[in-house]
Amino acid sequence: MSTVYYISSRVKNGVGLLNKLVRLMKEIEIDWIKKNSLICVKVHFGEDGNTAFVSPLYVRKVVDRIKQEGGIPYIGDTNTLYSGRRKMGVTHLELALEHGFSYPVVNAPLVILDGIKSNSRVTVPVNLKHFQDVSIAGEVKNSDGMIVVSHFKGHLGVGMGGAIKNLSMGLGTRKQKQLMHSDVKPEINHQKCIKCRKCVNICPVECISLDEGVLEIDLSTCIGCAECIVTCPTGALKILWNETPENMAEKLSETAYGAVKLLDGRYFYINFLINITPNCDCLGASDNSIVEDIGVLASFDPVAIDAASLDMVNQAKRTQNSVLSPEGKDVFKDIHSHTNPARQITYGEEIGLGSKNYKLVEMGY
Ligand code: SF4
Ligand code: SF4
Repeated sequence: MSTVYYISSRVKNGVGLLNKLVRLMKEIEIDWIKKNSLICVKVHFGEDGNTAFVSPLYVRKVVDRIKQEGGIPYIGDTNTLYSGRRKMGVTHLELALEHGFSYPVVNAPLVILDGIKSNSRVTVPVNLKHFQDVSIAGEVKNSDGMIVVSHFKGHLGVGMGGAIKNLSMGLGTRKQKQLMHSDVKPEINHQKCIKCRKCVNICPVECISLDEGVLEIDLSTCIGCAECIVTCPTGALKILWNETPENMAEKLSETAYGAVKLLDGRYFYINFLINITPNCDCLGASDNSIVEDIGVLASFDPVAIDAASLDMVNQAKRTQNSVLSPEGKDVFKDIHSHTNPARQITYGEEIGLGSKNYKLVEMGY
């Protein structure tokens, strides 16, 4: 059984969530934060147009705690699989600054963990059902430990996203993201193709050809790295999102397992259960919250913290004026009926990522 700490978002004796977080971080001893240790604070900078990502004001408090212990913090995220400003390091950083993650606010530098062009990677053997090994952003291995700050909310593909999703989609390379999303390779829309050859030139295994004016992909040798998809200027190459949601959830847990293994488990997790939106912060719009704000959870176990988060969301009072219907008990299943939101948690326990049994400790402030 793992311990999950809880602070309420309600103001008590004049103390709000920001200062409660400071107290919580002070009370919990994280023994791998030492003098001169490099500590990554993993966040999600938020897609362009999204407003639900965890505020840099909270991230600052985590950074300050690391500095108090003599550690050297930096704030990290990885590039996306899909097109947009977060698909490459430079524009990703510009967007992060636009979203308030500037040095004066967060008190630490920003690092794109898989590099400017997403080619910094490290392979971690896991020997599990879906993956023999997983591909993790290269700069993760240079951390002495990581604090994973996650916004807990719904997700189109797997029902919900929290610590496990931040460890997996959030730390996986573009190739790993593609493998988690789909076993099937890119699909060509020939009508949109302007025959610019950009995909032909970037494919690392040379499986795209443009002979006699016809673009073809040899799917038997495609490794699903998605380089061609993000390079195509016209959107002629698309991902086929036809992996089953159950398999996708299991792949998330396996990738998270590899990320944790890479740092020998030196991770701490903070889930924000506020502004709980129906979809993830990768979307360019944030819909109304589906349940009332709850607070912040913290734990050394990614499975336990997500299990506790899911239980608390299901028990929370539903808001008015959201996509969620007032009936039913499984909040994320109600919204994303094709998914099994708890599968990341149950499978995570099966493979040894953590324990779904938790003891909730409510902090008295
Ligand atoms: S996904 Fe990667 S390997 Fe497959 S065709 Fe595109 S660039 Fe080539
Ligand atoms: S990058 Fe896109 S537009 Fe250019 S050749 Fe490839 S599919 Fe066609």
